[in-house]
Amino acid sequence: MTPVDPSRRRLVGLATAGLAGIAIAPGVTLFEVARARAPEASASPKVRWGLLVDANRCTPDCTACVGACAKENGLPDAKTANAPQWIRKVDLKDLATARSVSAPVMCQHCAKPPCVDVCPTGASFKRADGIVLVDRHTCIGCRYCMMACPYKARSFVFAPVTGQRPDVPRGRGCVESCTLCVHRIDRGGIPACVEACAAAGHRAIVFGDLNDPASEIARRVAAESSKALRADLGLAPGVRYQGI
Ligand code: SF4
Ligand code: SF4
Repeated sequence: MTPVDPSRRRLVGLATAGLAGIAIAPGVTLFEVARARAPEASASPKVRWGLLVDANRCTPDCTACVGACAKENGLPDAKTANAPQWIRKVDLKDLATARSVSAPVMCQHCAKPPCVDVCPTGASFKRADGIVLVDRHTCIGCRYCMMACPYKARSFVFAPVTGQRPDVPRGRGCVESCTLCVHRIDRGGIPACVEACAAAGHRAIVFGDLNDPASEIARRVAAESSKALRADLGLAPGVRYQGI
């Protein structure tokens, strides 16, 4: 994996913190502006963040990744009506062999994301490192991106937002989806689903830099068989699957 420069990260954090209290308009602070644009500024085009999901290691009754995602991102319980779904478990059955597998599906962080193409405001955007996000400041909730996404990876926020996490901006009337836990990645961490899956003893999801030949994910994608969901669409997802 590409080494993280902790001193640079600290500097960015300190600079952002220093802006925190400066009001530029009633109710708007530079802190908010800096936070909204910080992800784009810190992303490197040399990196291509991705996930490798091994369905052979994922058990049907396990939802550790789903629970960890909700906790990390301050999402309502999945059983709540119209609850946003950033990651979901999908059961797949091969009708010819009757073999069943279970795997998590989330935003596939497409290299050619149709959600970005159709967004009329530029709210849907792809960072230089391949992470696809929604800027809640400019999303108007038209939901074009939801219709354009072939993976049903995006959700509209119907209910008032409660329990918002400081690192995860959300807003009623906006569309949202898996951010790959960008707030963790930008601090040198890994997505919450990956961490929870490993803690549950499965290690079915590997996170890393697909562009770094020394990373586990790049080595396995190069040496082992894996596939993209709906590869025929040519969207070049950053999420690859094994065992499906
Ligand atoms: Fe966009 Fe859907 Fe691709 Fe995610 S999976 S980048 S929301 S088209
Ligand atoms: Fe863009 Fe928001 Fe409309 Fe999606 S719902 S296309 S992110 S403005």
